[in-house]
Amino acid sequence: MSGQREVIVLLGPPGAGKGTHGQRWAEENGWRYAATGDLLREAVQRQTPIGVQAKAYMEKGLLVPDEVMHGIVEEVLQSSDRPLLLDGYPRTLAQAQVLDEMTQRLGWKVKAAVLLTLSDDEIVERLSSRRVCPNCQAIYNLKSKPPRNDEICDECETKLIQRDDDKPEVIRKRLAVYREQTAPVVDYYQAKGILVEVCSSGEPEEVYGRLKKVTLS
Ligand SMILES: [Zn+2]
Repeated sequence: MSGQREVIVLLGPPGAGKGTHGQRWAEENGWRYAATGDLLREAVQRQTPIGVQAKAYMEKGLLVPDEVMHGIVEEVLQSSDRPLLLDGYPRTLAQAQVLDEMTQRLGWKVKAAVLLTLSDDEIVERLSSRRVCPNCQAIYNLKSKPPRNDEICDECETKLIQRDDDKPEVIRKRLAVYREQTAPVVDYYQAKGILVEVCSSGEPEEVYGRLKKVTLS
């Protein structure tokens, strides 16, 4: 499945593995994996017109507004010579509608929206097992990527910590926000008949196998 000017949108809660599976899938299929955070940083670095605008917000510690995000995605659509796997955009119904408008105007097509699904309990379990090294920033997971010694960094032997963001009560709040924003986006793609759901429960290899299967059919 590799049309030159096609977009696949990757949806799913934090902890569902969008980055890991998305990057691998894109690499194996010759697509460009485009996470919004990376696109933003890249535009700022290259000092594109929209990148200059984004930088002003980021320097003030402000959230980058929708118009700027649209501009970033539009620049990518204009310059990309490969099909795109978008991660982190659209996040809201309004963004999904703008993406449709932009892709149509620029001769692109949203081919599918792939939703990685995982229960809240599993997400909390995955994310709350994460530990970071406050010294060298190495990231571990007590379940899937444990350090050799009990909660001690393999690289620099510092005691690992849990980020506030990875505490169960904070995760549940983030999930509530995610579901509220994303439910209308999911409904939107479902109504268009291009939503594909992939269960993200289980081992990474299993999940990736499921993803491969649905996207190849
Ligand atoms: Zn360390």
